[in-house]
Amino acid sequence: MVRLTLEEGRKLAFDCLVNNGCDEDNARASADRMIQAEGDGCPSHGLFRLGWYVKGVKSGRVNGKARPVADVLAPGVVRIDGDGGFAPLGQRVAHEALVSLARNNGIAAAAFVNMFHVAAMWPEVEALADAGLVGFAFTPSYPYVAPAGGSKPLYGTNPMGFSWPREGAPPLVFDQASSSMARGEIMIAARDGHSVPATAGIGPDGEETTDPNVVLKGAQLGFGGYKGAALALMVELIAGPLIGDFLSIEAEEDDGGQGGPPKGGELIIAMEPACFGDADAIRAHGEKLFAAIAEQEGTRLPGERRFQNRERIAREGFEVPQVLYDEIAGLM
Ligand code: NDP
Repeated sequence: MVRLTLEEGRKLAFDCLVNNGCDEDNARASADRMIQAEGDGCPSHGLFRLGWYVKGVKSGRVNGKARPVADVLAPGVVRIDGDGGFAPLGQRVAHEALVSLARNNGIAAAAFVNMFHVAAMWPEVEALADAGLVGFAFTPSYPYVAPAGGSKPLYGTNPMGFSWPREGAPPLVFDQASSSMARGEIMIAARDGHSVPATAGIGPDGEETTDPNVVLKGAQLGFGGYKGAALALMVELIAGPLIGDFLSIEAEEDDGGQGGPPKGGELIIAMEPACFGDADAIRAHGEKLFAAIAEQEGTRLPGERRFQNRERIAREGFEVPQVLYDEIAGLM
């Protein structure tokens, strides 16, 4: 393993992206987002993704010099055209506009289109809660998950993020895939020769299996059976057709088998508590629930693991496998 400070990691990602065709704004936004993930102990959205990003830019599919444009479509709707670039710059451009529309209207939505690789949901929703708002975020990806009862992949692992502002404490944030298991975990199980739970997926014959290689040839399953599949379906609709971007199956067609990052959209919704009532009283009411959760042994709030990681990693730095470090060095 190679230990890096967050600043060393950020510079590595930034230099790698600039050397491979991104301009400084695009490289900085993407590098910051990867290091935000490393800084919270979520390496599957960190430097691990650099190879994918470089592949996307070098193939000419991703615009490394994108100039995202925000366009207000209705009093509570802003659309951000990502100009074919990576998602983080568009997300940065949209944040202020979305907060301002939500404050004025009580509720507002940002519809992101024409951009590549929306990663984890928590950075966007956490930023909304930091601004005092309630946040939701959704995105499709590539088709990995079968519809309930089916055997062919159709939905992405379609994550959902939610945030709630708190006084004097980090916001409540959850961010979860609608599949039973993350795609990356199944790939790692296949690589390491481990089995996966029978709820993770099915083979091409539609039969349950604990062999990750068979799941990768077949389809993943939604968490909680048909309930997770229904949420994946919802995410396809609201972060695909509703906002004018791809379904997961269309993202795969668009990629044409190149194996680069998925092109697609993201829907973010923000709600201003002050437009629903007394914002302080609303937050205090939420605290009643958090206190009741904490009274039960064995519980924790979603997001707490990340916030603990954040404090520790800011002090200690983070580690990447030597093989990944060497791969990045080879991309310079
Ligand atoms: P996890 O199952 O690891 O965690 C889901 C949520 O549950 C997190 O908010 C987590 O908080 C919380 N949680 C976990 N354990 C507990 C517990 N014991 N008590 C209370 N809360 C708990 O996440 P997933 O594997 O589903 O997703 C991982 C990441 O991958 C997400 O960031 C998601 O957005 C991303 N993703 C992205 C996709 C894409 O296409 N862009 C597709 C699928 C996933 P905590 O973080 O504190 O552990």
